[in-house]
Amino acid sequence: MNNPVPFEGLAIGGKRTASSDGKTTTVYNPATGAPIAEVAAATADDVDRAVCIAHERFSAGRWKEMRSRERGQLLQRIANLVRERAETLAQIESQNGGKPISAARGEIASVANTFEYYAGAVNKFFGQTIPVNANGTSLTFREPLGVCALIVPWNFPLVISAWKIAPALAMGNTVVLKPASVTPLSALALADLALEAGLPEGVLNVVPGAGSSVGSTLVTHPLVRKISFTGSTAVGTQVMKQAADGIKRVSLELGGKSANIVFADADLDTCVESSIFAVYDNAGQDCCSRSRIFVERPIYDEFVERFTARAKTLKVGDPADEATEMGPLITPQQRENVLGYIRSGDEEGATRLCGGEVPTDGPLARGNFLTPAVYVDVRTDMRIMREEIFGPVVCIMPFDGEDEAIRLANDTPYGLSGSLWTRDIGRALRVARAIETGMLSINSSSSVHIEAPFGGVKQSGIGREQGMVALEHYSEYKSVFIAND
Ligand code: NAD
Repeated sequence: MNNPVPFEGLAIGGKRTASSDGKTTTVYNPATGAPIAEVAAATADDVDRAVCIAHERFSAGRWKEMRSRERGQLLQRIANLVRERAETLAQIESQNGGKPISAARGEIASVANTFEYYAGAVNKFFGQTIPVNANGTSLTFREPLGVCALIVPWNFPLVISAWKIAPALAMGNTVVLKPASVTPLSALALADLALEAGLPEGVLNVVPGAGSSVGSTLVTHPLVRKISFTGSTAVGTQVMKQAADGIKRVSLELGGKSANIVFADADLDTCVESSIFAVYDNAGQDCCSRSRIFVERPIYDEFVERFTARAKTLKVGDPADEATEMGPLITPQQRENVLGYIRSGDEEGATRLCGGEVPTDGPLARGNFLTPAVYVDVRTDMRIMREEIFGPVVCIMPFDGEDEAIRLANDTPYGLSGSLWTRDIGRALRVARAIETGMLSINSSSSVHIEAPFGGVKQSGIGREQGMVALEHYSEYKSVFIAND
């Protein structure tokens, strides 16, 4: 007989509870297809209860009026506990998200760093005195907003939760977080750990459940003041429309189709290896994935040859194996979506040099695995070049000169991230300024630095996470004028 999987309750008001109708969702390991937990599926009543408790905790004042050093120390204790429990959290993230364990460990380290950064930021973000044209003094205060609804996707469950929770709490807000229904485990573990660190009950609540019901109820709840959403552009559009009722503050981190531009003078050894992980990291399920590679014509053939050779040797396998470089896709449905793009690329006449295959033998056949695909002979009007695939698929295309590189890179409704490779500093700066994107790495594929703003332009989003700028999105200005006489 199979062992029963553990039950995970909702985290509301400092307690773990079943949902009001007792329903649960089974959560699976995407590498094996085995169930790993039964998670309470929040109802509209549960969401209402969580928001009301968060509102009551906010209005009671104890949390928002906590002295800055005390609040900072509390966030630091959360960071310390995340570090203490790092291996457990990394195992959860690897088993639930299909992430290679080495990558999951890196993500948990960055979660701790995020809480630590905002622990230090609490007393370094403040208002101003302004020389107004009047007989008196003008002051601004930076005040918390109230209940923040934080909605996160499944691709980096705890990392993205931390990017939202830490600055929201740093400013004195209270939080109701909705993880993706397929990856709720690490956020629930974090809620427990935050209580253990001393966070008052009800300041951080976690309500797993379906987006269409739980997410939508949260977004439309009258006591929610701010929505921070990370997910697809399609759902982000709906969220923004719904947030209009009640003039809720909204920030959106959405999809991408980022460019990787390789000039002929690039250091190809570094560039090829880095470009591989820039697209296949997290099995391509990364909003910053550089899934369109543009290579200057003189080195195009060599780049394609070296890139494809490396893609073929990428170690796809068991996420628990330290040597694994790419795990499975998150769900069978997600793999089906990606296979739809593979069929479309093949039918539209692109040449698939490798990958795009489902392993049918051995242990990989049980999970949602797909081998990394490389397409050439692509056109800019093909679906694989235009749409976010969110899987291990790359398109490589040649270009001639700076102007064409810029035109191709900008030929997308998205504008999240990207890279460019050149040893010519003047060109690097010219091209960097001309690309429509929120983030760009030169001679690197790294987009994430907790100290620097993260976010997109065009249909990739509104607002920024990380850095001090995130605190702007979790606070309001209040202007106060004091007359001299
Ligand atoms: P998704 O839009 O389907 O879901 C995101 C979250 O929204 C989930 O928690 C989901 O349950 C919830 N949701 C779904 N419908 C909702 C509704 N009507 N109202 C409120 N909430 C709802 O996205 P996904 O498939 O989980 O994640 C993949 C997408 O996320 C990709 O497009 C990717 O680019 C994007 N993403 C962006 C960033 C970024 O920082 N820009 C980071 C990671 C992922």
